[in-house]
Amino acid sequence: MDHVTGLRCRECGREFPAEALHVCDYCFGPLEVAYDYDQIAATVTRASIAAGPRTIWRYRDLLPVDDPAPVDLGAGFTPLIRADRLAAELGLGELWIKDDTANPTGSFKDRVVSVALTKARQLGFKVAACASTGNLANSVAAHAARAGMASVVLIPHDLERAKVTMTAIYGGAVVSVEGNYDDVNRLAAELTSEHPSWAFVNVNVRTYYAEGSKTLAFEVAEQLGWQAPDHVIVPIASGSQLTKVAKGFAELATVGLLDEVPSVRISGAQAAGCSPVATAFSEGTDAIRPVKPSTIAKSLSIGNPADGWYALAAIRASGGSCAAVTDTEIIEAIGLLARTEGIFAETAGGVTIATLAKLAAAGVVRRDERVVALVTGHGLKTVEALADDVGPTVTIPATLEAFDAAIGIDAVSGR
Ligand SMILES: *Cc1c(COP(=O)(O)O)cnc(C)c1O
Ligand SMILES: [Zn+2]
Repeated sequence: MDHVTGLRCRECGREFPAEALHVCDYCFGPLEVAYDYDQIAATVTRASIAAGPRTIWRYRDLLPVDDPAPVDLGAGFTPLIRADRLAAELGLGELWIKDDTANPTGSFKDRVVSVALTKARQLGFKVAACASTGNLANSVAAHAARAGMASVVLIPHDLERAKVTMTAIYGGAVVSVEGNYDDVNRLAAELTSEHPSWAFVNVNVRTYYAEGSKTLAFEVAEQLGWQAPDHVIVPIASGSQLTKVAKGFAELATVGLLDEVPSVRISGAQAAGCSPVATAFSEGTDAIRPVKPSTIAKSLSIGNPADGWYALAAIRASGGSCAAVTDTEIIEAIGLLARTEGIFAETAGGVTIATLAKLAAAGVVRRDERVVALVTGHGLKTVEALADDVGPTVTIPATLEAFDAAIGIDAVSGR
């Protein structure tokens, strides 16, 4: 049984039943899932979680749908890796990488989609749909295939090739739209009204979808031995993930899984070519001005972020920061993470690590903090971003002489 009491408007607090609703009829504010925390506290323990599956579903008591057989490809419980070599490069002390490249379709989106489609199926939907910057499309198509649902995904026409292939292979409809993500999302909103029997994971079931991101906070705390970190670096597209990471840590204290209310600083990471939240943060305003994205970090290219205001508020309330990094810095950071820790991240991961480096250099992320950086997507998804910069060290004929002349044994004899 789930512990959901209903949906609640984030603006006016009105309550609604737990159906496929996402905006308040009264004030048009976004809705959020409300839980009976007393009931959860009486049910869930660290031991009950530890006895669960090694997926996001070990936290089922804190998720908005309970199903003994969820729509599941194994999302979540990804490695939390101590990153001492990267920490040394950045002048930091205790640094951890949450490696969400290890998810079934290679990005953190598997967390939110597994939750969204489990709820959508329970609500009776037969078709899964979404507007996507790429990774959501991958994940929706894969999880729909797993669930035996049809899928319709809408993507901007200029996505990375791997993301298109990784979506189309699952057999659903892939609609490439001549426009950017914000155009695609507008079309998706129109289609949601036209096709009320489709579950648009980022529109009419977004309220449930968003809850899946809390599992990042749950896992980080559990993997640190049921302790919260001091500072988390989170990439921002719509801003949903960041707000839910904050909610996740708070909920752990509410239901008694953490001993004290954690004070986790949360800092946001954006690409300079699409930085509406970072710009509002540095200008000290509440007004998020939409932008036209232009960056290699396509998975974060949302110029008009739906949860931008809430992300900004969560950052400020936590005492965190928000910064933006250039495409050159993103590429350098992808290389730095790979060289120091053996993790190959997509451009969004480069945004997180480059922002971490920038905030560390500025003294905002501190050496005395326990820091976690969320690396949210796999590098194989965005290889073209690196194609001009990364390749063979040298190309030689197949002879020993040529090898020795080009490389020499000393160069590779280890350190
Ligand atoms: C979608 C996405 C994000 C950010 O998600 P939001 O919740 O929309 O802010 C971060 N990283 C990757 C790789 C993504 O695909
Ligand atoms: Zn309202």
